[in-house]
Amino acid sequence: MTKKDQHGISIIHQCGSHLLTLINDILDLSKIESGKMELHLIAFHLPSFLQAVVEISRIKAEQKNIDFHYQPTANLPDGIAADEKRLRQVLLNLLGNAIKFTDNGSVNLEISGSSHPSNSSIIKLHFRVRDTGVGISAAQLEKIFLPFEQVGDDARKSEGTGLGLAITQKIVEMMDSSISVQSELGAGSVFEFEISCPLAADWMHSSSFTKIGKIIGYSGSKKQILIVDDRWENRSVIVNLLSPLGFAMVEAENGREALEKLSKLMPDLIITDLSMPVVDGWEMLSQVRRSENFKNIPIIVSSASVYEIDRQQSLAAGGDDFLSKPVQAEELYVLLAKHLDLSWVYAETLTVLANSQEQAELEMVLPPASELANLIEYARKGQMKGIEQELEKLSKSDAKYQPFVNQLNQLVQEFNIQKIRQFLQQG
Ligand code: ADP
Repeated sequence: MTKKDQHGISIIHQCGSHLLTLINDILDLSKIESGKMELHLIAFHLPSFLQAVVEISRIKAEQKNIDFHYQPTANLPDGIAADEKRLRQVLLNLLGNAIKFTDNGSVNLEISGSSHPSNSSIIKLHFRVRDTGVGISAAQLEKIFLPFEQVGDDARKSEGTGLGLAITQKIVEMMDSSISVQSELGAGSVFEFEISCPLAADWMHSSSFTKIGKIIGYSGSKKQILIVDDRWENRSVIVNLLSPLGFAMVEAENGREALEKLSKLMPDLIITDLSMPVVDGWEMLSQVRRSENFKNIPIIVSSASVYEIDRQQSLAAGGDDFLSKPVQAEELYVLLAKHLDLSWVYAETLTVLANSQEQAELEMVLPPASELANLIEYARKGQMKGIEQELEKLSKSDAKYQPFVNQLNQLVQEFNIQKIRQFLQQG
């Protein structure tokens, strides 16, 4: 494309994203106003959640040449239960504003935890976003939480919708808290809030619940995975998710350490970050792909980058797949099944086997020919819904079909019609 065409497309893209933000904000606000917004508490890994928020904000701050500081305090728990999506939305809004309204100096995120006075299973988390930006006058402070209110100079207004803080305030209120602001015109602003969350030390167990069932292990020989990331938070989330399922996990802090480890062991798969100090992910990828011994190891590139170009480049550089950060457990499971060629063992299947106590049950029992013919017909037409309905019927008809149902369901979840056809043909 010519420069002019590229410029045109980039404007269309910007307008599209702006419209999307506007639509999402208006939807959120109307949901709140009609009392339809609900919080969905789930247990998740707090350090990697925060790390992903910080990475996104750091990129934005770098683009504006301002400093971004985040110092996690030691007293933060590993697992908490909260509405992860809404908490992320609140933090990204406050941090996004702080960066948008700061031209010199820095934006700081401070988070501290303190125990609940009467309940030891609850932690109080205090969030503080501080900037050295344009500040807000006392008169303006009264308006900023109102929908469609934007204060200050016009140049910045076009970037936002004036809905962010209204939504953020409402969400924080739903979390039984409120946002307080202190600001001085020309000096900067501080936004803070404190929420109480149940501790969830077993967060990895709830993450292993997939649409098909709870994953408790995998079939076949023990697999070793090398995870390369300079942030312990990012390594820790994957190690915590996979160790309980029976994977041997090896960690490296950067590309050089990963290459050193490779001289001593032969992992079945590598998961790597891209930007790291000393030797980055790109360089490591290229060295691994050039080496005689390791060139065939599947490598999953995991990055917080939202740019399609980074995904494409990492695939072109030799990555086999892309896993976006923050890591979603289900996405990780799908990629592992694909590249390690393994199938997951679900809690339900095991119950069936334990109850039946019959060796024969260990093997996959195929459904009757008529049922199989229906499935093959749906697969031929590419009708996933039909396959799903058929599997549900089978699952209810007799527990002995469960291993077959689970395996096929996994392929249905991956939307892999090719593999489904192959699988049924073998049957
Ligand atoms: P917008 O989409 O304009 O960012 P918000 O509801 O998030 O809408 O914020 C409302 C207004 O509050 C902003 O337009 C800005 O004038 C003011 N504001 C919010 N955060 C800050 C900040 N950190 N520093 C200075 N002004 C701010």
